[in-house]
Amino acid sequence: MIKIYNSLTKKVEDFKPIHEGTVSMYTCGPTVYSYAHIGNFRTYVSADIIYRTFLVNDYKVRYIINLTDVGHLSDDADDGDDKVEKMAKEEGKSARDITDFYIKRFLIDYEKLRIIKPKKFTRATEYIKEQVSLVSELEKRGYTYRTSDGVYFDTSRFEKYGELSGHFAEDILEGARVEINPEKRNPTDFALWKLSPKDEKRWQEWESPWGIGFPGWHIECSAMALKELGQTIDVHLGGEDLLMHHQNEIAQSECATGKEFVHYWMHAAFLKIDGGKMSKSLNNMYTLEDIEAKGFDPLSLRYFYLSGHYRTSLNFTWEALQSAQTALKKLYQVVEGYSPIQEETFAKDYLSRFMDVVNNDFNMPQALATMWDLLKSDVSEQTKICTLLKMDEVLGLDIESHVGMTIPEEIVNLAETRNTYRRNGIWDKADQLRKQLEASGYLVEDRGDSYKIRRRI
Ligand SMILES: [Zn+2]
Repeated sequence: MIKIYNSLTKKVEDFKPIHEGTVSMYTCGPTVYSYAHIGNFRTYVSADIIYRTFLVNDYKVRYIINLTDVGHLSDDADDGDDKVEKMAKEEGKSARDITDFYIKRFLIDYEKLRIIKPKKFTRATEYIKEQVSLVSELEKRGYTYRTSDGVYFDTSRFEKYGELSGHFAEDILEGARVEINPEKRNPTDFALWKLSPKDEKRWQEWESPWGIGFPGWHIECSAMALKELGQTIDVHLGGEDLLMHHQNEIAQSECATGKEFVHYWMHAAFLKIDGGKMSKSLNNMYTLEDIEAKGFDPLSLRYFYLSGHYRTSLNFTWEALQSAQTALKKLYQVVEGYSPIQEETFAKDYLSRFMDVVNNDFNMPQALATMWDLLKSDVSEQTKICTLLKMDEVLGLDIESHVGMTIPEEIVNLAETRNTYRRNGIWDKADQLRKQLEASGYLVEDRGDSYKIRRRI
């Protein structure tokens, strides 16, 4: 039984799918106007762990991640510039050039972190028809009103508004950084459809019953989730900075369908940098490229993410990343010494301990600890490696390609020749070959008549 902390009820609950054996899951993806940073990727790796856990538990998962390529404004609400249009202007390119470029870059990093791809990445601009009809439906049901710049959702008409984030109108009024649009009936109201400015031709704009314009940032997720996954979905994920966005998704979807939108809301906590916030001015919005430029393996970053529980904020420092890299290399070094799998045999007690902590709201720090306990145990090498590879279906650390067999053939041949010399007492030649192996990055450890090859770290 999988247990999930539900942000809506603020309780750990037993996971019960809508349809036996199947999970529908939606993760709010990136706004593709710049590089995704390591804080964003913490959310996607957390989502990946959750996705993998469902798969390992034999669920069939219908999984969608969206790509926001229009409508996300610079204040994350209803004012300011569209992030994509602004970047297009700054770089003298079309909006499509910008979004195509950053989607490509996102997917490169995504793969490097070994995040399993969903059934579909949905682009907001490919669901305009669905978004317009969803707004029309809300209008028909009396949840909207028009202003001089668009169509807004009237949050006072939805009783459950604020249930998810706990942010009610008063908080927003108090915390408002910008002046609240005087045409809004309630401070929490949000745009469903924005009209294009009269004096400006946007790269991305469409005809609608309300005039030429573009969809609001929130409506896209509702429209895509409803279209691809149905009116009620099992799991919806996102970073904890998206609580307001999700609250708006609930309002739109439930008012349009009259049904509960999501059963389990899940939020990944923030990544801190050196104990503080990530920001442009501090120049610490690191990307995977920055991580690699410093000589780190992308999977060391993945290992680092797993060292924290997804609901707890995690502090990134270069030292912490170094420790993660050291641990990962140690893991690889251990499995490099193992022989490839001959027969399937599992350490059932370790595996069930591992699945227990994973299934208990995805406790990856404990999962890693269990994995290390297994490695240190006196379980046989074959059983260890089989069990480890099963665990790696959740961890995603690419352990398989480091198991024994991955040592290049010429290295194995050299070591074999050296061992023959050694067994025949031809020490000078054996030593020569040992040095040659070390120069190529390998160590040989003699074990009786046999030997082990390890990669140097
Ligand atoms: Zn979303």
